[in-house]
Amino acid sequence: MAILTKAIRGTQDVLPQSSYKNRFIEQTMLEIGENFGFKEIRTPVFEHTELFNRSVGETTDVVQKEMYTFDDNGGRSVTLKPEGTAGAVRAFIEHGLFNEPMPQKFAYVTPCYRYEKPQAGRLREFHQFGVECFGAGDPSADAEVIALAKSIFDFFGVDDLTLEINSIGCQKKKKKYQEALKEYFKSKREDLCETCKGRLARNPMRILDCKSPVCSEIAAGAPKILDYICDDCRSHFELVQKYLDAFSIEYTVNPSIVRGLDYYTRTVFEFVTGSIGAQSTVCGGGRYDGLVAELGGPSVPACGFAVGLERFMMLLEARSIELPGENPVDLYIASMNTEANITAAKLAAEVRSEGVPCLFDTVGRSLKAQMKYANKIGVLFTVVLGTDEIEKGTAKVKCMADGTEKEISLENFAEDFIKMSINKAVDDFDTGDMNIDLSSVLGGLK
Ligand code: ATP
Ligand code: MG
Repeated sequence: MAILTKAIRGTQDVLPQSSYKNRFIEQTMLEIGENFGFKEIRTPVFEHTELFNRSVGETTDVVQKEMYTFDDNGGRSVTLKPEGTAGAVRAFIEHGLFNEPMPQKFAYVTPCYRYEKPQAGRLREFHQFGVECFGAGDPSADAEVIALAKSIFDFFGVDDLTLEINSIGCQKKKKKYQEALKEYFKSKREDLCETCKGRLARNPMRILDCKSPVCSEIAAGAPKILDYICDDCRSHFELVQKYLDAFSIEYTVNPSIVRGLDYYTRTVFEFVTGSIGAQSTVCGGGRYDGLVAELGGPSVPACGFAVGLERFMMLLEARSIELPGENPVDLYIASMNTEANITAAKLAAEVRSEGVPCLFDTVGRSLKAQMKYANKIGVLFTVVLGTDEIEKGTAKVKCMADGTEKEISLENFAEDFIKMSINKAVDDFDTGDMNIDLSSVLGGLK
């Protein structure tokens, strides 16, 4: 019955021994976003299919081949979100947030679903950290979201991401450019992949985004969109670059970046790495000035980006970038018999209510096995409770790193334990032993 014990292809479990990394990364990204004024928004994991058809675009790969779409029991077509922007825009319109002071800045961490060919860095369920900034059409807003992405990468010490930017202009000149592309690709039609042959008629710009080597080579010689954008778009793009210079952010203008989703206008950008193989775009984004109106809201300019979190984690690993470790369990209360274990439960509750991670035996193990377990999971301190300790009302707390012991009262257990562990960490710091790191003791405290 492998079907019961095998996750769906293209999905990943995050196991308890490594989930602290995901949590740290997600929290850190949201916090850095807050420094730039982006507040968290949470939207449902599924939406009306029509929302994605309209926003992502009928002719895109995402809508044509990659969406997880199904009819619910009420016969409505719903789709698991393939990206984060559409839901954020829908919520922005639905809740009338365009009436609030602008800009409105949202950040999110979300799972996304795309039926793609699973490979390294390409999954069917993946996760994005994304931001959307509504109501700011100024080029400084484009530069600011890019600066936020860059701050995140800098915080983690990722130094091999290059920023590539381009402008795909507004709707005004798009038609003319599409015609030029059609003209160019028509003579090379026979060499294009089957998908691109179809794209030629429907949306030739999509050919520029094709991953097939032959199509990419042909696309390299295609007319460049920068030669077609209008004067307003050109000066907008020039100002984006001036703001990037002001932020001291390095970039290259790559005229072949068009992005895979239809809603982009003007600025588009990607952060690309050479460290994780073929799926090299870790972050993609840009401006989408027409989308809010397209989905039924007022005309509100917007821009944003999304970081693929699995690709970002691959990058951290490839660059051997360490993340802060898991908080250790501060205390294990071992017991010699059931009566002592009941006291252990009571003491554990007291200690935990002070915010200190604490465990006791729930397996019914022998004392020896309990100590072995405590050692294995790396607890900082242990204490053994038996009939004697309970009668005396005191017990010895042992530091697992250096074996030193200190007697504390059971009456005032939580408070005495906290004082003792902090004193021990401070003493270790003074003597340079560093058996107990103060931050690990304080880490659990409220
Ligand atoms: P690609 O060109 O690699 O297919 P995309 O243009 O489809 O990416 P976006 O829709 O812009 O990607 O999504 C933003 C980011 O989400 C990407 O840069 C990437 O890091 C990540 N991403 C997209 N699709 C996947 C996937 N199937 N698996 C893992 N991460 C993904
Ligand atoms: Mg894609």
